[in-house]
Amino acid sequence: MSGTTRAWDMKRPFALLPVLATLVACASLERESWLISEEDEVALGEEFHRQLLKEMPEFTGDASVQAWLSDLGQSIVPYSHRPGLAYHFTVVDAPEVNAFAVPGGYVYVTTGLLMTARDGAEVAGVLAHEIGHIAARHGVRALETMMIAQGIGSLVGDETISEVVTTAIQIGTGLTFSQDQEREADSLGTQYAWRAGYNPWAIVRFFNLLHTLEPSEPEDPVSKVLSELGELFSTHPPTTERIENVSRQIREMGVGEDDPSLRWDTPRPLSEVQSLIAAATGRGGTR
Ligand SMILES: [Zn+2]
Repeated sequence: MSGTTRAWDMKRPFALLPVLATLVACASLERESWLISEEDEVALGEEFHRQLLKEMPEFTGDASVQAWLSDLGQSIVPYSHRPGLAYHFTVVDAPEVNAFAVPGGYVYVTTGLLMTARDGAEVAGVLAHEIGHIAARHGVRALETMMIAQGIGSLVGDETISEVVTTAIQIGTGLTFSQDQEREADSLGTQYAWRAGYNPWAIVRFFNLLHTLEPSEPEDPVSKVLSELGELFSTHPPTTERIENVSRQIREMGVGEDDPSLRWDTPRPLSEVQSLIAAATGRGGTR
């Protein structure tokens, strides 16, 4: 636990109250799924990862970029509701601004998102949102519904896991979520980013930025996959509503934009990471 967090705990004892109220409201965080055990979920995640990386290129231009994303993600995980799960954070080499998560602890963000964000706190907010989907088992519930519809009673055997994942990727199940699940992931992500020491107003700033971007028309195969799997534009509640919800939550938490105990950037600033991506891909930012 970092010094920042201890300072936060001592300085804001009353700010915990609205957070606790929100935690109680998230019933899906409390119970395991009945059809997919955590062990099954991890096996599904490994298979998703294997199949997805056949469709989308992992960014390999500079290993320190993957390490930077992984360090940032892992710094948020202890503050989530499933800190014991092994999480994996992967940079996908694609100019689109997008991110998504699959069950079992796998989170993906594009180089386009990293080039467009203004600071590490904005990326922290995106990762925290995706961790929220995993913590609340949103993808697991969607996969269960799909298995029931297809008459699959259990995930015994690698073949079944492979079939379930292939079908899920084809129809986008387990990767995009309902509007209520998006609201829950926003709420959880705001708490997680804040507790990890990042200023949660960065999330509002990133939403405002998203508001100004249009989803690109998918042309090449990777863009097509991303537009189907990436979830920043697809099923979220309208951005203005998300901005209002998250702003209200942060005000209730008593956090100001100028709070000196909270970070706006990562220990290694995002701008350095952007320079590495630009050098490796030849692509600049979209802002
Ligand atoms: Zn989401």
